[in-house]
Amino acid sequence: MTTDVKAAGLSPGIIEALSIGNLPDVEWQSEDDLCDCTFQRIGMWKNPYLAETLEVRLCCIWAKFAEVFPDMVRTIPGYFNENTQEWITQPWEWNGEAEMPKAIWYRHLARKLNRPLAEIRAEYAGKDELRPKGRPQRREIPFLLTQGGMEFWINFG
Ligand SMILES: [Zn+2]
Repeated sequence: MTTDVKAAGLSPGIIEALSIGNLPDVEWQSEDDLCDCTFQRIGMWKNPYLAETLEVRLCCIWAKFAEVFPDMVRTIPGYFNENTQEWITQPWEWNGEAEMPKAIWYRHLARKLNRPLAEIRAEYAGKDELRPKGRPQRREIPFLLTQGGMEFWINFG
């Protein structure tokens, strides 16, 4: 690291990026499966006028918070269904319109089979054909057709 860089007053993150000589080639995204956190959440702030991006892997930080403040972070082994006002303690089967994201699939299997995430990831990484596919929901649009004094309801979907 040159003295010029230090003298410029750059942040430690920028100095590190410059010292390794490149910018990150892996983009952090929610559900990128780059960590073992159940809920992968990335905070990102960027500005072209500053030519700088700040990415914070919030999920991993929450895990650190839990270690330091165990009474302030809790993991609840259930999902509260607002519609039925009940706790659901067994994972639902996939019913999404798009295919199940890989990161969610691995965590779903780990929870359902009560096995470690790393083990599930290793076992299912090459078995993508088993990953639940999306089920596009059929949207029927009723249409009233009147012909010859008779009425016909037709559904388009
Ligand atoms: Zn994480």
